[in-house]
Amino acid sequence: MIRTRTFRALSICSSITLLKEECQIIESLLTRNGYPLNLVRRKIKNTIDQFKTTKTQKSPKKTFFVPITYHGHKTILMTNKIKSMIDRIYPMTNVIFGYRKGLSLSKLFIKNYKSTDPMNIGVIYKLTCIKCHKEYIGQTQFDVNHRMNQHKNGLKEEGKSTAADHILNNKDHEINFDRLEILASDNNKKRIEKEKQTVLRI
Ligand SMILES: [Zn+2]
Repeated sequence: MIRTRTFRALSICSSITLLKEECQIIESLLTRNGYPLNLVRRKIKNTIDQFKTTKTQKSPKKTFFVPITYHGHKTILMTNKIKSMIDRIYPMTNVIFGYRKGLSLSKLFIKNYKSTDPMNIGVIYKLTCIKCHKEYIGQTQFDVNHRMNQHKNGLKEEGKSTAADHILNNKDHEINFDRLEILASDNNKKRIEKEKQTVLRI
């Protein structure tokens, strides 16, 4: 009887003041019906405590930890947007973003080009058509051999490589992608100057 009435009070009262008033009504009603005041108060208190505990146990906020690579201030803006979106759609979910430092270019090299000659990385290179002697000058930040494979793959599909397209469009012409000339490398720091002087001739 006391529990039922208190539960009803808990579900209909939107504020603590209202709940207190409602409990006083229950108290006076029950004591008028012969219930001892101490017992009524104790039961009401127990019921409220129990209600509060089950409520917090039922809906704890779920926390997710999301590691993300940090790419400057825009990363923060993006994660803040995601956070507010999640808060709106899933209010019981808490997402914590952990920022990792982005991979530096040197780390990329260590990871992917460990066995590569450093002279092959970050170069300006020249490819020459054996037939018409047209030159193709390109630049790559990564291993130049990898870039040559990209050119070779360009032979399969037009539009992927200007040098490969030259061969595709001129059937008897030929560029040997294994015989390239390295004009400048990252190591001599003249790359930018060379690049400015260089004119694409294809
Ligand atoms: Zn040619």
